[in-house]
Amino acid sequence: MDILERFKKYIAFDTMSDENSSTYPSAASELEFGKILEKDLHEIGVDNAYQDEWGLVYGRIENGSEKTIGLIAHMDTAPTIQGGCTNTKFVESYDGKDIVLSEKYTMKVADFPFLSDLKGEDLLCTDGEHLLGGDDKAGVAIIFAFAEYYLSHKDEFNYNLAICFTPDEEIGMGPAHFDVKKMNANIAYTVDGGPIDRANFENFNAAAAKLEIDGVGVHPGSAKNIMVNAVLLAIEFNNLLPQNAIPSKTENYEGFIHLEHFSGDVEHVELGYILRDHDAALLENQKKTLQKAAEFIQNKYPTSTVNLKIRDQYRNMHEYFLKDMTAIEVLNKAYINSHTPLQYEPIRGGTDGATITYMGLPCPNIGTGDYNMHGRYEFVSVTQMKKMVEIIKELFK
Ligand SMILES: [Zn+2]
Repeated sequence: MDILERFKKYIAFDTMSDENSSTYPSAASELEFGKILEKDLHEIGVDNAYQDEWGLVYGRIENGSEKTIGLIAHMDTAPTIQGGCTNTKFVESYDGKDIVLSEKYTMKVADFPFLSDLKGEDLLCTDGEHLLGGDDKAGVAIIFAFAEYYLSHKDEFNYNLAICFTPDEEIGMGPAHFDVKKMNANIAYTVDGGPIDRANFENFNAAAAKLEIDGVGVHPGSAKNIMVNAVLLAIEFNNLLPQNAIPSKTENYEGFIHLEHFSGDVEHVELGYILRDHDAALLENQKKTLQKAAEFIQNKYPTSTVNLKIRDQYRNMHEYFLKDMTAIEVLNKAYINSHTPLQYEPIRGGTDGATITYMGLPCPNIGTGDYNMHGRYEFVSVTQMKKMVEIIKELFK
């Protein structure tokens, strides 16, 4: 099946994951979609493909090679706008001008200046009312296109192919039930990025902090030297933190401490922070900064109770690749052989690949040609999706 035809078939299914669900996968539609992928893998000739008890779909094509490369894509779409787009707009050989999606929505070059770099490429856009779902069904379609080619050209390749489609990536649960043994690969790639000339093997180190302050609440009329207002203590606490190390003032490799939740009253306040830095030592410094600020407030207001809890979330996979660069070297070679420039960008967030890397399967992230993810202006460059299939062919040589 043609890659565009297959992509359109898959984005027609709405597989939005659900943050508030208590099941795994979080949405029944992901299980149903996984069954379709299993059936489609059988149809193209991946006879061993199966959906496991958690809804992950695995498949494998061997050609007698010693080593195996894994390709991973996620089946769910972001819980932002409803997916299931059937009314897509195909833009053949894009002219570099504004794209009218519907009466209500126009994608303007003024808002998205990178559009002018895509002149001449074939694009697929939404109708402005849906999420396209190219994140990550572009990855799914790319893997299928490569698998179909692999099956009829087995002797061209020096690696076996292992495939895995995961649920719930968008709600941070993608690798929760990923099984390195079932995958049985030497290296792997999540096919889940943006433009195909970028790849990632660095992400944030991450921790979360919860601060609780108990104050002393009494009648404001007779509060002198007695009342301790927890809200004011919380404000004072936050003012002790570096004021420029926040998301709205940082980029690239700059870390931040982000106050993402603040609630409470005179008696009790709760603050939720996330701590992020590419450098593990700097993340430790952030933790110390918070601890010092908590101690300062506690000492200054002895009748209050200040309780700070910090827990680690995920790690930068870069540390792993400092010891073993194989997955990066194989990728570099593929890009050189397909005459495509490649730039590595640090991810200012987490990635399933980082968790999978620390499970023992090194797993950088590669592009799909998807842009403006998670919103109504999402679109894919079909030209780039096709080019990515060619790059992956080089990857397996
Ligand atoms: Zn994604």
